[in-house]
Amino acid sequence: MTHQELWQTVLAQIQLNISPANFATWFTNTKIVCQEEGTVTVSVPNSFAKEWLEQKYNKEILKILRTLDLSIKEIIYQIELPATKIKENSRRAEPQELPAEQLGFAELETDKETNLNSKYSFQNYIIGPFNELAYAAAEAIIKEPGKAYNPLFIYGGVGLGKTHLLQAVGNELSKGSSPYKVKYIPSDKLISVIVNSIRNNSIESLKSDLRKVDVLIVDDVQFFAGKEKTQEEFFHTFNDLYQKGKQIILSSDRPPKAIPAITERLKSRFEGGMVADVSLPDYETRLAILKQKTLEKNTEVPPRVLEYIAANIQKNVREIESALNRLLIFQKINNKVPSFEEAKKLLRTIIVSPSKFTNPTRIIQAISEFYDLEDKSLFCSSRKKEFVKPRQLAMYLLRKELSFSFPAIGRKFGGKDHTTVMHACQLIDREIQESERFSQEVDLILQKIYIMDA
Ligand code: ADP
Ligand code: MG
Repeated sequence: MTHQELWQTVLAQIQLNISPANFATWFTNTKIVCQEEGTVTVSVPNSFAKEWLEQKYNKEILKILRTLDLSIKEIIYQIELPATKIKENSRRAEPQELPAEQLGFAELETDKETNLNSKYSFQNYIIGPFNELAYAAAEAIIKEPGKAYNPLFIYGGVGLGKTHLLQAVGNELSKGSSPYKVKYIPSDKLISVIVNSIRNNSIESLKSDLRKVDVLIVDDVQFFAGKEKTQEEFFHTFNDLYQKGKQIILSSDRPPKAIPAITERLKSRFEGGMVADVSLPDYETRLAILKQKTLEKNTEVPPRVLEYIAANIQKNVREIESALNRLLIFQKINNKVPSFEEAKKLLRTIIVSPSKFTNPTRIIQAISEFYDLEDKSLFCSSRKKEFVKPRQLAMYLLRKELSFSFPAIGRKFGGKDHTTVMHACQLIDREIQESERFSQEVDLILQKIYIMDA
């Protein structure tokens, strides 16, 4: 039996026992390169496939091999880089390898064509057990968009790197000598575009625009819940792209099955490719993320402080990042690195329950002070820009810091509907993610709320 025949037999067996998506993720581009003295060497495309095969499939592969050739005792997995290997991931990235614009607080533009933000890349994406399946799937898609799995559906809790991963795939595919035509759309934006174009009778041109892309990325599709018209239009666009072999990538805060009020046919489309989750990062990964972020921001934080953050913020990478930002702002203001005790004080609002330390009055005060407004003007109904943003931020912080319900916030602001409040919170959340400057503003306000006169 040749190496190739031997491996084909193994693959044929394995394929019977695992899902097509898993099979493609872990066994694409694998082969036997050598068989010597009872040792078979299998070449694999990357370290993830290596780890995964070693840990999860080795026993089974060996069993199959031994049914074919009893002299085989052991398998070695060896990484072989294909010619078109994508960039090495962040584990090995050195600070000087980062593009200059990623250092410091430079605010980056979103590309008008693709809607992608170049700050999300694989160079600054840390991989750990919590996201390796999603990452591996993304990697496979970058190699062969539209072929590996379609759609790719990534789900997981808030702040765990879904948007980062989706955008990194988009960025990777939209560059190079023969770039793919990529479009990234957050689902709430897609919903409003669809609603507007139905209203303006321009739905056909919207659809034909969407159908021109090679890669369509829709973020947070849980917002499709209950949006029948959007689901209907999206279903057709999805089918059209899918039939043409175009890649579709989706994310959600929960698996397709758990999205309420969504049609069965759309749900089954969502489940039709690869569904991969991102779970919670472990301590080591959290620490690695922190180290990566300090490199990006070109700053130094005492190891003890980083360990303190990694140990205490467990559920959300975005919070890990905002903890770090707080320390950086302290550094900027005070021109010194915070001591461990100072850091603990600065972070206690993130690390212990905030409601112990604040109340609505303080939130309102801090915001009005920051924007130089009178407290009561936050509650007026003026649509002037200088009032609207602070008012939306106040709603957001009441929700975020004190877990007020949307209707309760609505009542506080002169009987506004809860959907208005939800919308405000979404807008602010998005702006915090997209604008470094605004997110710093919010951090400063939080410092005012929690620290200045604590
Ligand atoms: P989600 O879309 O799941 O809510 P995001 O992609 O917006 O989460 O991630 C929140 C923040 O955490 C972003 O600034 C992102 O860059 C960062 N982040 C998340 N996961 C990682 C990771 N694995 N490596 C580096 N940064 C990460
Ligand atoms: Mg997101």
